[in-house]
Amino acid sequence: MSDQPSGAKPKRFPLTLDAVTDKATRSRATVAPRFNSTQTAVKNVAARAPVLVKSSPPSVLNTPTEKSVANVANTVKRDDNMTLVSDAIRKAMVKRVQQQGVQDPLVLAAMEAVPRHYFLEPGLASQAYIDASLPIGYHQTISQPYIVARMIEILREQTTGKLNRVLEIGTGCGYQAAVLAHVAKDVYSIERIKPLHELARNNLRQLRIPNLRLHYGDGMLGFPQVAPFDGIILAAAGLEVPQALLDQMAVGGRLIAPIGEKNQVLKLVLRTGVFEWKTETLETCHFVPLKAGTLG
Ligand code: SAH
Repeated sequence: MSDQPSGAKPKRFPLTLDAVTDKATRSRATVAPRFNSTQTAVKNVAARAPVLVKSSPPSVLNTPTEKSVANVANTVKRDDNMTLVSDAIRKAMVKRVQQQGVQDPLVLAAMEAVPRHYFLEPGLASQAYIDASLPIGYHQTISQPYIVARMIEILREQTTGKLNRVLEIGTGCGYQAAVLAHVAKDVYSIERIKPLHELARNNLRQLRIPNLRLHYGDGMLGFPQVAPFDGIILAAAGLEVPQALLDQMAVGGRLIAPIGEKNQVLKLVLRTGVFEWKTETLETCHFVPLKAGTLG
């Protein structure tokens, strides 16, 4: 999710990575190199970063020394501490999302369960819990926490318990797919940019989510092999909902998609019969564009 690219670059972030995450010790050797991303997401970060500083306990700002990181015993201890810190900051993020209007307890619990900092490169992981989209490379972004939660809440309205089969178009770094896997029995997610598909695979590996399957391909074609879906969620904005996706909705199913170019709105599509769909227009939003075809 993103505003339009602006060419802005981050000048300074208030926290170091080590201050909030154990990610520095995790290997990213298998991740393909990234291109420089120039997106307003970066501006969002700079603008919103002080919120994190304010809401963080002072101890968060104490960066462990290199010596302590080098020591195995200390590293274990440090990881425990950092896990506690990221848990606390994530709770604060969920509280903000709730204050912004998301009420579904299952969605809020899912947001609390998924470590968003696992999905960002080390240089940005310390910003993981602010309410902003952030660059993930290839001119794409990880969506803002509020919109991730809101879209899933909309998808789940009228559902008691978990959704059955859900399709996400636009895996990106894999964050929203991981959240979806907490509220649905089976989640399929498609990404058209191969290095991002691989990045998501790598990010998700350590979380070991058995009910999530990633697929490299053009999501505008859907996933006919496993259709129909009870829920479809698009993480990129087109001018209209692709017909293939409408066809792959189960009767009674719901689809949520950002629609538009510069001015975008969230649209909810309900399949009310074999040959009948109803559409509702919800709030405004800003997503990267939905594009046809694949990029290897
Ligand atoms: N779901 C992500 C957001 C990813 S940004 C999150 O968890 O935050 C949107 C993604 O949609 C980008 O990675 C982009 O490459 C992808 N995308 C755009 N058009 C697509 C298409 N036709 N099929 C699959 N993915 C697409």
